[in-house]
Amino acid sequence: STYLGRIERLNGDLNAFITVDREAALAAAAEADTLLASGQGGPLTGVPIAHKDIFCTEGMRTSCGSRILDNFVPPYDATVIRRFRDAGAVILGKTNLDEFAMGSSNENSFYGAAHNPWDLSLVPGGSSGGSAAAVAARLAPAATGTDTGGSIRQPAAFCGITGLKPTYGRVSRLGMIAYASSLDQGGPMGHTAEDCALLLNVMAGHDPLDSTSSEQATEDYTAALNNDLQGLRIGLPAEYFGDGLDPATGECIQAALRELEAQGAELVEISLPNAALTIPAYYIIAPAEASTNLSRFDGVRYGHRCDTPADLHDLYTRTREEGFGDEVKRRILVGTYALSAGYYDAYYKKAQQARRLIRDDFMAAFDKVDVIAGPTTPGPAFALGAKSNDPVAMYLEDVYTLAVNLAGLPGISTPAGLVDGKPVGLQLIGRHFEESRLLNVSHRLQ
Ligand code: GLN
Repeated sequence: STYLGRIERLNGDLNAFITVDREAALAAAAEADTLLASGQGGPLTGVPIAHKDIFCTEGMRTSCGSRILDNFVPPYDATVIRRFRDAGAVILGKTNLDEFAMGSSNENSFYGAAHNPWDLSLVPGGSSGGSAAAVAARLAPAATGTDTGGSIRQPAAFCGITGLKPTYGRVSRLGMIAYASSLDQGGPMGHTAEDCALLLNVMAGHDPLDSTSSEQATEDYTAALNNDLQGLRIGLPAEYFGDGLDPATGECIQAALRELEAQGAELVEISLPNAALTIPAYYIIAPAEASTNLSRFDGVRYGHRCDTPADLHDLYTRTREEGFGDEVKRRILVGTYALSAGYYDAYYKKAQQARRLIRDDFMAAFDKVDVIAGPTTPGPAFALGAKSNDPVAMYLEDVYTLAVNLAGLPGISTPAGLVDGKPVGLQLIGRHFEESRLLNVSHRLQ
């Protein structure tokens, strides 16, 4: 009830939550109290968790930040939600996001933008901006997010918290409404690496209902947090420290790296020669997959339906015209174009080839180093409205985060310090399934 009280007082300013079910949360908390009183329960019993409003919650609205799902109450739980319920965690509510997770500022939400608790005139980042703002302002102790191209790491950086995007396939995507299926991955957002490890312990693991979910065994992600960093080789890609990086942000990142060096890590200069292909490849592949995934929203089975359709075609077109916002429509148009016969080879196939090169760069780098480090974003949080009318400027914000998703790697953003009173994040990238190592390095900085 402490957190419910803070939500009541502060959510009006922050707009971090779209839906809060007070009664359900209090009932679940009372149940957890009974369990704990009888000596049962696990590490998350009774812990309130905020969930990005893209994870289906049985009986609780799941909007994806879109008008088209404004009235959608799922009949089932996402696997991630089910796992949290089974662990005894309490669902505090559903957090704000860019519509269908498309965006880097949370300004594309049908419910209005969430605000950055460090300064309400700044964006919290996106698309998991509501989760990041909720954790940073202590409206929730921890939250879930999803990351297709940076949506956990970038808002974590902007709000001064820790956010982990796990290896593709580590966390089930069942019931996590799809944006770009080959890139999407759910993960934890918390104040510390330890919080993220505790959440990942619940979230990670094989799901027979998600065919892309990995069968690789999970670990206790808290076990390695305190390992020392002696001899750890940290690669610094030249491409992540060049033009486009705000100098003060670069200074802040360098200071964090010196701290890791002082703890025994070795800093190694490396190169990711195909880094420049990242933004163009991502902004073909993600919209292509989105255009197919979003074809299911047609007003027939669930979600918004336009009034008095004249015929089936009118039903489809008017429902989608009314239901989707501008950025979602832009992505559907770009994606449909890229997949069209005649353009497929020139765009989609090329983008897939670039994706392979980007992945191979990482694989080669990981022969030489254990972890790759750099800034999460080119600079700290920007002002609300500053980039909302310029999609390309917004896409450039993702320059350091997208490649991780294209390569399926795990990545974490950990607080590096402040620039003009605004938080900056250090991004650490690991080999596939080496989440523990990222959490370890992050923990050693905190
Ligand atoms: N900003 C990126 C996009 O708009 C990434 C979003 C995400 O990771 N969901 O696609």
